[in-house]
Amino acid sequence: MTEDARETWLSWLRDAHAMEVHAETMLNAQIERLETYPAIKMRLEQHLRETEAQREAVGRLLESHGETASVLKDGMAKFLATGQGLSGVFADDEVMKGSLAAYAFEHMEIASYRMLIAGAQELGLQYAIPVLDPILEQEIAMADWLAENLAPLTRSFLARSASDLQAKR
Ligand code: MG
Ligand code: FE
Repeated sequence: MTEDARETWLSWLRDAHAMEVHAETMLNAQIERLETYPAIKMRLEQHLRETEAQREAVGRLLESHGETASVLKDGMAKFLATGQGLSGVFADDEVMKGSLAAYAFEHMEIASYRMLIAGAQELGLQYAIPVLDPILEQEIAMADWLAENLAPLTRSFLARSASDLQAKR
């Protein structure tokens, strides 16, 4: 394996760590805002716990490569996530905007872990695979849940809006 290829893979791992920090902030902001949709709130809370463990697992992988998770980059990710998590605050369809963002985000995570797993296989970093595989499975499960729930959520949101019930969040 060339040193360059390993460095590139490691940069993907650092990005994944920043992504999980970002995910935590976003999930926290969404959970805090939700009032009317308990099923979504519960699923987001479950994924927040998974995300915290993912961030720790990726952090340990980084440390095994002699890396300390970049404080600066994570700080920046946190800042960006705060903006994103709150960007729907004044929208009348906040719950829908949040679900759209969550669906897109899970698919970015899926792509990231697929790259990391294929890269680990290619570069002979076998020890990373049992760490990354279960994370990928959790991201796929979350993306599948969102995919199944987007249509029912949309119907419920629109029905509530039409009858003047609290629908926004
Ligand atoms: Mg994640
Ligand atoms: Fe996720």
